[in-house]
Amino acid sequence: MELLKRKIIQEGRVLDGNVLKVDSFLNHQLDIELLNEIGKRFKELFKNKSVTKILTAEVSGIAIAAIAAQYFNVPVVFAKKTESKNLDKEVYEGSAYSYTKEKHYKFMVSKKYISEEDHILIIDDFLANGQSILGLKEIVDKANAHLVGVGIVIEKGFQEGGEMLRAANIDIQSLAIIDSMENNKINFR
Ligand code: 5GP
Repeated sequence: MELLKRKIIQEGRVLDGNVLKVDSFLNHQLDIELLNEIGKRFKELFKNKSVTKILTAEVSGIAIAAIAAQYFNVPVVFAKKTESKNLDKEVYEGSAYSYTKEKHYKFMVSKKYISEEDHILIIDDFLANGQSILGLKEIVDKANAHLVGVGIVIEKGFQEGGEMLRAANIDIQSLAIIDSMENNKINFR
């Protein structure tokens, strides 16, 4: 998606440890016009799939999923990462390992909001090692729901997640795939 790639080039900053900071439009301040274009593009890419619900993870996935959902006319469910009194006792859990934070974390979704009739599209901001997507997929699998695909805004193609998930026959659609970002120079696939 050219508009997104331009934005990454203009405003993205490469941090130590191969982390791309996109706080000015995706992860802190939100560029709603761009998010609308992202939502339309996801709809185009998954137009042949019958999606009943979009699943994402708090926090960064929520805005992207919520805007995209307007083009699919379906609800968004976001997996929670922390326990709280607000969360129902009956939850589906998924787990993921964060290489950046070097710890395991949990995803939780109330059993009320995902069922075996659901055709789920997972949406997330980044795909790196694929752990987040695997954690969300675990929830879809536990609910016996059907995973129709995964929409990613920025895939870091030099990390293993994309290859691993495509090898598992998951329909992954990434709007920008970065092949390298050494010395602050970002190269797209
Ligand atoms: P994975 O589980 O695929 O390794 O990592 C995915 C999650 O880690 C994303 O949802 C995102 O929150 C975070 N993440 C991974 N790499 C980056 C990055 O380069 N920049 C930012 N901003 N977040 C990242």
